Amino acid sequence: MRLIIVTGANKGLGFELVNQMLLRSKTPTTVISTFRNNELGLASVQKLNSAVSAKVKGEVHLDSHQLDITDSNSIGSFVDFLKNKYGKPCIDVLVNNAGILVAKPGPDPKGLIAEKTLNTNFFSTIGLTRTLLPFMKDHGRVVSLSSTFSFVPGSPEEVKPQYFFKKFTEEKSLIEHVDSILEKARAGLLKNTFPSPSYCVSKSALSCWTRIISKEFSSDPRKILFFSVCPGWVKTDLGSDRAPLSTVEGIKTPYYLITEDYDKLQKYNGEMFSNCTPLA
Ligand code: NDP
Repeated sequence: MRLIIVTGANKGLGFELVNQMLLRSKTPTTVISTFRNNELGLASVQKLNSAVSAKVKGEVHLDSHQLDITDSNSIGSFVDFLKNKYGKPCIDVLVNNAGILVAKPGPDPKGLIAEKTLNTNFFSTIGLTRTLLPFMKDHGRVVSLSSTFSFVPGSPEEVKPQYFFKKFTEEKSLIEHVDSILEKARAGLLKNTFPSPSYCVSKSALSCWTRIISKEFSSDPRKILFFSVCPGWVKTDLGSDRAPLSTVEGIKTPYYLITEDYDKLQKYNGEMFSNCTPLA
């Protein structure tokens, strides 16, 4: 039985990923849908349950749990749930999907928007990953939703993933850089444009960290693969209804990275993907 965990799965791309995993899985699979808000999460699970009941019983299984990736108590109870119900190791795929973009262009005098954005999309995402890595099985995968901002004309080079890849090859210097952006924001020096520099930095830093952790784990006997992925500009609450892609189109590359043969993906360990292709 394959075990896949998706964060932020009550709506948008996370919901669609869980839905498609349940509908299309060809091997016995358990998908754990996680969400920070229990009420919204359980309502989404109800919708998903009708998808599962259409499948052959026993082939796919939907489980769910509250998980706010920024809250250490919530992470603690999720870890207890995993240990008690599934044991250790148990995870085949962790999908870091939870993310925020505060679309309120304007000043951010105390850097609160930047702080929340960098904390959720970068610090908490890498923190959760490190916490769950001991639970990963042999040939496990970590797939993190990121962005290339290809849809944003004129965005500055220094917020793009390619800039981060060239500049940072160690976690320490990457974190120092993200901290320095946060300090700038706290000093009121970062505007919340669209998409905000803090959002772009949070995602580029996440893709860069994905490369770094893949190297750190290259000698781990479990041979875990790490990928970051840009889904394209997708119609969701975060992407807005101006986006050209549906959620079904948007999950194409994350779905590919979750389901493609290990042997085919192994040589791309650490890379950022877009349109099912590693970024040049
Ligand atoms: P949505 O806003 O539709 O969904 C985001 C999900 O993340 C929600 O379920 C939200 O929960 C959850 N979330 C936010 N903060 C937390 C937290 N602290 N703990 C747990 N869950 C949290 O966005 P999308 O589906 O569009 O985005 C999914 C991912 O894809 C994000 O990481 C985003 O940055 C990325 N992405 C999206 C693009 C797009 O065009 N849509 C483009 C590029 C990347 P709640 O409902 O409680 O707020």
